[in-house]
Amino acid sequence: MGMSWAIGRRAVLELVEGDITQQDTEAIVNAANPSLLGGGGVDGAIHRAGGPEILAECRKLGGCATGDARITTGGRLKARYVIHAVGPVYWQEGPQRAAELLSSAYRRSLEVADEHGVRSLAFPSISTGAYGYPLEEAAPVALRTVMDYLSTRPASGIERVRFVLYGRQAYQVYERALRRLLDAAQETGSG
Ligand code: ADP
Repeated sequence: MGMSWAIGRRAVLELVEGDITQQDTEAIVNAANPSLLGGGGVDGAIHRAGGPEILAECRKLGGCATGDARITTGGRLKARYVIHAVGPVYWQEGPQRAAELLSSAYRRSLEVADEHGVRSLAFPSISTGAYGYPLEEAAPVALRTVMDYLSTRPASGIERVRFVLYGRQAYQVYERALRRLLDAAQETGSG
């Protein structure tokens, strides 16, 4: 299952159902915690698949604030880099602040990717597992942030952003949210 859409002048946004550790994009994004020392969920899967080199680099970084992102090697992954983004714990922040921090985690990941010349990257659905962010609320924030970035940063070299949704339900929530955003953009003539 998948869907792709042209955004801005030269970028493509893709939605796929799958496992982020298997992606062939230049970078994959990890939904990390502030320690950057590993955890469960997608974080555990990335460290297992990528091997100990990733954690060794993470240890040297000294953590990462919520809403920010750091980059390491991809170790044994197909991806050259892992970008470790820290999303908000939903119930600790409240909806408004959580949305700001979630958007920031995506935007900072894209900025870090651009700083390293990354042209393609894959995101998981940050914060929607252990961090408790409702998928229906997180999807439009995630998609809008990426679409805004791709259409408003002329100096960006990013050509492809793929959301890798774990399971059919998550995929469907993102697909519905993307269709809604694209419809709204068309109506206001900004698509
Ligand atoms: P967080 O702590 O940010 O909530 P989690 O890893 O608990 O991070 O969950 C984030 C999202 O990643 C969830 O929606 C979960 O279903 C999804 N996920 C878990 N494993 C994978 C994987 N291998 N590939 C892609 N997404 C995954």
